[in-house]
Amino acid sequence: MKKKSGARKGGAQAARKPLIGKLVIFGVGLIGGSFALALKEQRAVARVVGVGRSRANLLTARRLGIIDEIAADAATAVRDADVVLLAVPLAQNAAVLAQIAPHLGPQTIVTDAGSTKLDIIAQARRYLGAQFGRFVPAHPIAGTEKSGAKAAFAALFRDHELIVTPVRETDPQAVKKVAAAWRLAGMRVNKMDAAAHDRMFALVSHLPHVVAYALVGQVAGYKDAQTLLAHTGGGFRDTTRIAGSSPEMWRDICLSNRDALLQALDDYLAEFERLRGLLAANDGAALEQRFAAARDARARWLKRK
Ligand code: NAD
Repeated sequence: MKKKSGARKGGAQAARKPLIGKLVIFGVGLIGGSFALALKEQRAVARVVGVGRSRANLLTARRLGIIDEIAADAATAVRDADVVLLAVPLAQNAAVLAQIAPHLGPQTIVTDAGSTKLDIIAQARRYLGAQFGRFVPAHPIAGTEKSGAKAAFAALFRDHELIVTPVRETDPQAVKKVAAAWRLAGMRVNKMDAAAHDRMFALVSHLPHVVAYALVGQVAGYKDAQTLLAHTGGGFRDTTRIAGSSPEMWRDICLSNRDALLQALDDYLAEFERLRGLLAANDGAALEQRFAAARDARARWLKRK
């Protein structure tokens, strides 16, 4: 009785042809795994094949029902794929693209979930050749500081934003399909220029990660670090939460977005210098003014969210 409408809905969903027949995921971690789970929950994919670096992680992914199969080899896996998702640490992308390029089917769409966009566009242009038009650069703005298949969950992307950064050659039909998949995962989709994307995320994501790593690194470097850390409160914990993120992933993001991040760091250092100058000058009024302006900007931002 109570399950009736749900069962009807499930029946209708089961009868519908899935959006994606075969999905191949390179890197079945937090992002790749959550994408698979979200699409499975929506019955939007018929078969998910995982390709990975760690056999143990792939076995976990299969046991958790994230993937249906572990690929015997990457070339065979992509041959009849409808969609290939790259969700590996950024430094791995070039090698994966070079490896799969000769084996992609004529209709296969390749997309990615990477945190930077200019770099992957250049790599895809270089390695995919004539198939570059079916490469859809995308970045889901959702995540946690956890990694690996066991961190994946279907609701990760719900009510978050996906940014796609297609270029002149990108096939609009391929963009449409990739956007439809992420919408089914719960995301709203926006288009942006890749350079604008990289500058924006240098400021609002990559810089904060560097700051969090630096803050923990500084405090942990003192001789009495154990005592210091034993007395931390919510402030230190909250500001450094993202220093729990994968060092490999963040190394790659920093290097991949080097120019924009260097500019963001220069601007941050200038802001620090300003605050330091006010403190050195004992200018409490100006210090309070800058803190109040930042607090108000933060309140306005959270209100708009
Ligand atoms: P993760 O560490 O959870 O997963 C990455 C997976 O890739 C791991 O399982 C690893 O074994 C596998 N892998 C590494 N090298 C490989 C290779 N050569 N071939 C196949 N598999 C390989 O990381 P994640 O958080 O899922 O991040 C994946 C991508 O998503 C990154 O490019 C990152 O920039 C992007 N991203 C991450 C977040 C986030 O908050 N975590 C948010 C948005 C985008």
